Amino acid sequence: MIDTHCHVDLFPDPVGVARLLEREVEACVAVTMLPSHFEMAQRHLTAFRRTTPALGLHPLRSREGHREIQRFKNLARSAEFIGEIGIDGSPQGRPTLEAQKDNFAEVVASIQRGAFVTVHSRGAWRETLEGLKVARVGPVCFHYFIGGAEAAKTVLADGHYLSINHRMVASESRHRAMVAALPRDRVLPETDGPFLGAAPIRQLESVYRFLGQAWNLDSLETRELIRQNFARCRTTNTTLPSQST
Ligand SMILES: [Zn+2]
Repeated sequence: MIDTHCHVDLFPDPVGVARLLEREVEACVAVTMLPSHFEMAQRHLTAFRRTTPALGLHPLRSREGHREIQRFKNLARSAEFIGEIGIDGSPQGRPTLEAQKDNFAEVVASIQRGAFVTVHSRGAWRETLEGLKVARVGPVCFHYFIGGAEAAKTVLADGHYLSINHRMVASESRHRAMVAALPRDRVLPETDGPFLGAAPIRQLESVYRFLGQAWNLDSLETRELIRQNFARCRTTNTTLPSQST
């Protein structure tokens, strides 16, 4: 199984979680909130092959993030995994929306070709999509996307992917129908741990089970399809000078 969005560094025992993931998953994208956290995660995760730190600048940490923009740009030159970055337009993020957009425009422009990128777009999927379009960066993965079926279509039309967690496919969730109807070649699993729970393996299993049923595939086929999606979800466009007009 693959976890495309997990805050390993926010668990009470990050190294213990990394050890568990090393045994149980194929790959885990260990997202971070700030470049300084990414550097710390790199030091702690060097021994782990399956859990890879991702370079982040979280929209709800925009003030600190702004001070670390240059650090982000330097680290982005060699970072294969980017996240969590994005824009938050929820009541929590609205007061800093303009600062977030500025940060996002700067960090997105520094992403290299071939990177896996997981983005936050709560209450601001249009702004996030627009920011990517302006910088010509894609495809990326929109994490925990709950903007609705129509919005999902718009995001998918730009070539992007969506990552799905166990809460979105829980029996009482109103997002189940949207998830089940997504094109199977654009879906990735995530736990968003520890925010949505502290049992990453069980959380992933329930996402894989739901997707397998929705797609009418057995567990081996489901895993293979997800593996292919993950391998393909890499930025092909970037703001290379040759592309700018
Ligand atoms: Zn997150």
